[in-house]
Amino acid sequence: MTTLQELQTVRWETPAAGVARIVLNRPETRNAQSKRLLYELNQALDAAAHDDAVKVVILAADGPHFSSGHDLRDETEMSEFDRVTPWGGFDDPGFEGYFAQEQELYLGLCWRWRDLPKPTIAQVHGRVIAAGLMLVWPCDLIVASEDAEFSDPVVALGANGVEYFAHPFELGARKAKQMLFTGAPISAAEAHALGMVNEVVAREELEVATLELAERIARRPSFALRLAKLTVNQSLDIQGLRSSIEAAFGYHHLGHAHNVQQHGILVDPAGVETIRRGE
Ligand code: ZN
Repeated sequence: MTTLQELQTVRWETPAAGVARIVLNRPETRNAQSKRLLYELNQALDAAAHDDAVKVVILAADGPHFSSGHDLRDETEMSEFDRVTPWGGFDDPGFEGYFAQEQELYLGLCWRWRDLPKPTIAQVHGRVIAAGLMLVWPCDLIVASEDAEFSDPVVALGANGVEYFAHPFELGARKAKQMLFTGAPISAAEAHALGMVNEVVAREELEVATLELAERIARRPSFALRLAKLTVNQSLDIQGLRSSIEAAFGYHHLGHAHNVQQHGILVDPAGVETIRRGE
C-alpha cells in the first residue's frame, strides 16, 4: 500500500500537536474527485483515525476552489484500487455494476468519513459544487472563507442531487428545495445564517482560524470528543438522516437509469450547457 508521503492527490500535514491536516491536491482540476483522489483521501482519513497522536482532523484544499465535484473525465478502472466496502461486481451488466460503483465510491466512503471517531473540520474556500458537498457535509464542523459558495446544480443533469443527500438536514427543507430546483449557489454568509457553516472568516485568515479551532478541540480528552460526536450523530440518525440519505440514493439511481435509457449516458447532456451558462 502507498505510504502517506507517496499519495499523489492529497497531502498529509501535521501543523500542530494533535492536529492532522489533509489537503486536496489537484488544483489544476479544481480538486475534481477522481477515483484516486477519493481513495487517497480515504486512506489519509483512515491513517488519521488510527494514529493515536491525532485528535482532530482538518480537511482543506489547494488551488482557487475547494472542489468542483466528480471528475467526469476520470477513466481509471475500479480494479486499480483496493475496495473499502463489501460491494463488488463493478463491471456487471445492466445497472447493477454502476449502482455498486456509487455504493462503494460515493456513499460507502461518505459513511466511513461521517463516522470517523474523531472530530473533523472542513476548511472551505472558493466553490463547492455538487459532489464537493460530499466532502464537506460528512465533516463535523465547517469553517468557510467569505468567498466560499455552495451549490448542487445536478437537477439540470437529471438527478435529484449529490449522492450524500443531506440537503434538508443541512439547510432546512425550503432552502434545500430552492438550492436543488434552481442550482443557484448559497454564499458563505447565507450558509452561516442557515447553520450549515460554523464560522466565516476572511480568506487570508482561513487557515489560521481553522487551526485555532482544531487546537482548542485537541485540548479536550479524545474519548469524550468521540462520545460527543457519536451522541450528536446518533441524534441525527434517530431523526432520520441515515435512512433519508439511503432512500434518496435509490431515487438518485432511478435518475441515472432514466438518463441512460433516454440519453444513453448517466446524465442529461442538455444540463451541462444550462450549468455552464449559470442559468
Ligand atoms: Zn450519481
